[in-house]
Amino acid sequence: MRLRKDVNVYLFDPTRKYFHIVIEMENVPGALRNVLEVMHGIGLNVLGSFSSVDGSARLGVWSGFVEDDEHTAWDLKQRLGASPFVHDAMVVESRQGFLVDGVHFPLAFNTGTRAVMMGAKSLANMLSTVNEKFGTGGNVILFEEGRTYGKDLGEEYLLKLGADFILSNFAEVVKLYQALGWFRVEKVRFDPAEGKVVVDAAESFECEGVESRVPRSHFVRGHLEGMVTAWLGKPMESKETLCAAKGDRVCEFTLTPRGP
Ligand SMILES: [Zn+2]
Repeated sequence: MRLRKDVNVYLFDPTRKYFHIVIEMENVPGALRNVLEVMHGIGLNVLGSFSSVDGSARLGVWSGFVEDDEHTAWDLKQRLGASPFVHDAMVVESRQGFLVDGVHFPLAFNTGTRAVMMGAKSLANMLSTVNEKFGTGGNVILFEEGRTYGKDLGEEYLLKLGADFILSNFAEVVKLYQALGWFRVEKVRFDPAEGKVVVDAAESFECEGVESRVPRSHFVRGHLEGMVTAWLGKPMESKETLCAAKGDRVCEFTLTPRGP
């Protein structure tokens, strides 16, 4: 099974006609099925979609990029709007085969926290530039930036989940890095007595495709340090004990309590 998560940003093929369809519907059983049946009846080819609903809300949203060369945006809006479950339908047609999501804003995690998307490779290049231009001083900057972000996010999770839950479900909660696309969480070891944490991170965006003689992850390492410091409520010290940029299979981060 392909497990990559795709987010619709744009499509471009001058020989094709695309539509962006956003449907606001009643949040009741059977509504989404009905809407999908209407789209199937029209013969739309769905290329990518998401649906979301606020648990307490009366309405849900389905949004998708579709391909179709037989209908106009007006036709589709009428057909979809005729469903008894549809509250409102928005249909945007591509221009010369170019369709961009100029509808949704802001992006947010399902927790409601606003998010921005960046290409992982470009972000990794940005971090590399700091390392190349400023050497070890640059690495300290990257580490501090990561630690600030990690502490922020760690405190947010602490507030939402509580320390007890995090400590007893440590490996599960660390998977949030995978949910954010930073790295695949291959293994997490947490020793509560010693306060030691070891995280094996596969395909980390910061180190993937990079070659280095020394461990290369400063931003992600700082982030983990900030995060775990917030969760355990005591200052931690982090080391990247294995690094994919050096040729190791994964980047392994080892965190231990700082000082006496
Ligand atoms: Zn690494």
